[in-house]
Formats: sequence, structure tokens, C-alpha cells
Amino acid sequence: MKDKISVLIWNEFVHEREHEAVRAVYPKGIHEAIAAFLGTDAQLHIESATLDQSEHGLTAERLAHTDVLLWWGHMAHDKVADSVVDRVQLRILEGMGLIVLHSGHYSKIFRRMMGTTCSLKWREAEELERIWVVEPSHPIAAGLGEHFELPHEEMYGERFDVPTPDELVFLSWFEGGEVFRSGCCWTRGHGRIFYFRPGHETYPTYHDKNVQKVIHNAVHWAAPRVTITGVENSPNIVVPLSPIAPKHAHIAKAGVVQHGGKNL
Ligand code: ZN
Repeated sequence: MKDKISVLIWNEFVHEREHEAVRAVYPKGIHEAIAAFLGTDAQLHIESATLDQSEHGLTAERLAHTDVLLWWGHMAHDKVADSVVDRVQLRILEGMGLIVLHSGHYSKIFRRMMGTTCSLKWREAEELERIWVVEPSHPIAAGLGEHFELPHEEMYGERFDVPTPDELVFLSWFEGGEVFRSGCCWTRGHGRIFYFRPGHETYPTYHDKNVQKVIHNAVHWAAPRVTITGVENSPNIVVPLSPIAPKHAHIAKAGVVQHGGKNL
């Protein structure tokens, strides 16, 4: 058994290079800001990857050693290669955890895992967000009060077009009146997925202690409980575990062999 949880923080890392306003808040990039506060936990082994790296830093070998993948993207979702999305999806189905942050709701990998548009309403007006903890016994809510506030946030409003979450941990209210399901959990295959709303690139959201606590808790929650490879196969079990009594029915077989979701 591994003694540490391997965390890979993926950031498209475009805003920070192109916009001074973003660089002012996250001089080394959002991924490095997240790595800094997670790095205080000796149970975590933390690395980062960015869009411009070969295979976006998400090679098969690297993903095979990753327990929890964090995803931040905004303006370059369409630059992520479909082959890499396929690979990440498979690892989630095998047991890897995925934490999707803020504008990652429109990332290819999140939309793939949800199967819906993942659309929402939005407004940039530096408004107050009050985040209500609606499932206080959930591990991701550990150490938080009844609610916490972010004084200047981008608004995300319902309807958030995602499948009904398996567990809803946070519900946000915004100064302008909208509400949003801002902390949602799903299971896909053997992997756990958590979506967390706050994190607009020009606001210091990832410097907030409560936001840091949520992401930290989520990493531990999303860590794999099992890793099961070959999940895309559907084996034909010709030899049964116990004898099957002879039947006298004559039912024809079409002889179709299933493999990886495709009929060969
Ligand atoms: Zn934003």
C-alpha cells in the first residue's frame, strides 16, 4: 500500500501568462497556489501539470500513478486533446479521484463524466457569495461552520445542468439573488468526482482558508479506495463457477461477441 496520496494539479495556465490582473493574484499560477497550501499536508505527494506540456502533462504512466487529479481550466478547454480526455476518463472509472474547480465545469473531462451540457448562469460583479454547508457530516465539510462567505466572487447561478449529485455538500447564495449547487459529489465507475464552484481567476479565492480547507478535505475524500484495471472489458465467462443443470430448451444464439462497448 502506498504511504502517500499522489495528487496531480492540472491547470491550463493560460490566464496567468496573458493577463496581468491574474498574475497579480497568482504570480506562479493557480496550480502553484493550490500546491502551496496542500503541501502543508505530509500525507500528500503533490505534482502539477499544464496544457503546454507534452500530452498536457497527462501521460498514461503519470496518470497510472495519480490518486487524485485536480482540474482548473477556462479559456482553452477545446485545446485539450480528446485522446487525453479518454485516458483520464478511464483512470477515473478505474478508481482515480477527480476534483473539478470553478470554470472547469465546461472542461471536456467534466462534460464527459456528466454526460450533460454543464451550462449555468454567470455574472462578474464582485458580489458576496455565502456558501451554506448543507451536509455537515460529509468529510468534505469537516472543520467548517454552518456557512462561510467570500466577499467578492463571480456569480454562478442555477440551473446548473448536471445529473443530480449523489451528495450535495454546499449550496451558494449570491448577493444578486441567485443560488447554485456549489459542492457536488458523484461516483463514476470506481472513481469519485467532486465539483467545487469558487475560484475565479482574478479573485484571491484560493488564498481563502475555508476554500483551502474544502479542497484539502476533498483530496482525502476523492482518494481511491480501489484501483481496478480492465474496467472497459466485458468478459465472456464460458465456464461457470458451479455446474448448470442441462436444459432441454432450444434457443438460438446470434454469436455476437462484446468487447469494450463495441460489437466485434
Ligand atoms: Zn470565472
